[in-house]
Amino acid sequence: MSTISPQTIRIPQEFLPADGRFGCGPSKVRPEQLSAFGTRGAQLLGTSHRQAPIKNLVGSVRSGLSELFNLPDGWEIVMGNGGSTVFWDVATFGLIQERSEHLVFGEFSSKFGEAAAAAPHLGQPVIVSTEPGTHPVATKEDVDVYAFTHNETSTGVAMKLQRPAFANDALVVVDATSAAGGLPWSPSEVDVYYFAPQKCFAADGGLWLAACSPRALERINSIAASKRWCPASLDLKIALDNSVANQTYNTPALGTLILLDEQISWMLKNGGLSWCAARSQKSADHLYSWAAERSWAEPFVRNAAERSAVVGTIDLTGVEASDINAALRANGVVDTDSYRKLGRNQLRVGMFPAIDPEDVVQLTRSIDFVVEQLIP
Ligand SMILES: *Cc1c(COP(=O)(O)O)cnc(C)c1O
Repeated sequence: MSTISPQTIRIPQEFLPADGRFGCGPSKVRPEQLSAFGTRGAQLLGTSHRQAPIKNLVGSVRSGLSELFNLPDGWEIVMGNGGSTVFWDVATFGLIQERSEHLVFGEFSSKFGEAAAAAPHLGQPVIVSTEPGTHPVATKEDVDVYAFTHNETSTGVAMKLQRPAFANDALVVVDATSAAGGLPWSPSEVDVYYFAPQKCFAADGGLWLAACSPRALERINSIAASKRWCPASLDLKIALDNSVANQTYNTPALGTLILLDEQISWMLKNGGLSWCAARSQKSADHLYSWAAERSWAEPFVRNAAERSAVVGTIDLTGVEASDINAALRANGVVDTDSYRKLGRNQLRVGMFPAIDPEDVVQLTRSIDFVVEQLIP
């Protein structure tokens, strides 16, 4: 056991990343986004969201996302306040007709299922779950929504998005909060792809965004026409009608929109989603192969095909993750802690597109240095 206090370890400059933020949300905001915030923000903050300058900003976010995801004609980007957690309630009212199936493989994927189970107007959902570190596959059931999670942020498992062959009229609704902008997907496999801006989009929290297929829009309209009760702030039809007018139902955080718009432009300028995905994959390839080469570390996700390129989880033996994290934090390298409820001796590393793959290399050099001090 180590006798040295982790906080006293000084990592040499040559091993430190240029930017020490590796959190999985809120995650690293690029300095260029912040300078743009200073210039664009100075013009836009404190002005009405019902006037052209902010409507244009919302329009730019919506068209930028459509381009980034290569959305076919007829899709819409819908948005509202409250983040992905609120979208689970929105979907419970506005997307699930009667009954849903949920693939549950961690903390985040369990929450939408819980929301659907608690809704008095819906039938009991089908929950298909597997152990953390793996993911389940959909089963054929009489349901009208299949709820998937592209990237389970609590465990670092990513699933390939594929519409089940037996889905019929059911919608494929995907929590892509930590995946959107960093993992590839095809609109033909999905009806609703929802997320929040504080992960791959390197912005601030508080907003939900949902790319909706024509089939999803039809469902939203038909549930609205059925006059089933829904609180206005959670009403997807109201959100849709506002979004197509480049508006939100109530006042959005303008700063979040500016940071988000800057990140979307940066992604598009560099080559779009395939460039972003390749950049995250480069970070991930390094992290997982580094871990595999260490006697005291190994990737938590056994199946290499399910290892996330945006959230890396590394199990440790013989050295405490909490000691490593304390030493890193004392040196300005932060938020490498595992998901609190997972309860493993583990490091978790955000590898979103904003994070320079070279900084992931430097992070592993820093960890090597810290471990040498802790277990000499
Ligand atoms: C972060 C996260 C959420 C929660 O997002 P909020 O905007 O904080 O509500 C939901 N699902 C996944 C997969 C996440 O990573």
